[in-house]
Amino acid sequence: MSADCTGVGNEVIMQVRRFWFHTIGIGIVFAVLLAVAVALVTATGALAFGQRDGDPPESGKARVFSGVLTCARCGARHPGKSQLSAGDCAKMCLKQGSTWALVDGGKVYRLKGDSPVLDRVAGERVTVSGTLEGNTIVIQSVEPQNR
Ligand SMILES: [Zn+2]
Repeated sequence: MSADCTGVGNEVIMQVRRFWFHTIGIGIVFAVLLAVAVALVTATGALAFGQRDGDPPESGKARVFSGVLTCARCGARHPGKSQLSAGDCAKMCLKQGSTWALVDGGKVYRLKGDSPVLDRVAGERVTVSGTLEGNTIVIQSVEPQNR
């Protein structure tokens, strides 16, 4: 009797152990899956965060702006008394410490960054690709518009 009881008891204990091994096994699989999921979410979040905090030229969405390239000092209105063309005035203002600006109708954007084209297309209608930061376009490229 005692032998039988012990045998049954052992079997029950073995089943319980097997049950727990199984449960722990499933637990480990879930833990690993959870860890992978968390890692993925963290990586995705870090990527999105990195894009937001990246360098200005890479942050935000690049947009295309068109308007007249001029200087921030004069905007659309260059002094009428000056004999300079809008382009020459803008270049002169730049030398005096002003910054490039893009005038699109009533809007005036300041331009940040540099392009070898700027000097050549001063006073002309241009297409500027870049990202908008407040009222400033961070230049990616500047192209003269076809006339
Ligand atoms: Zn000017």
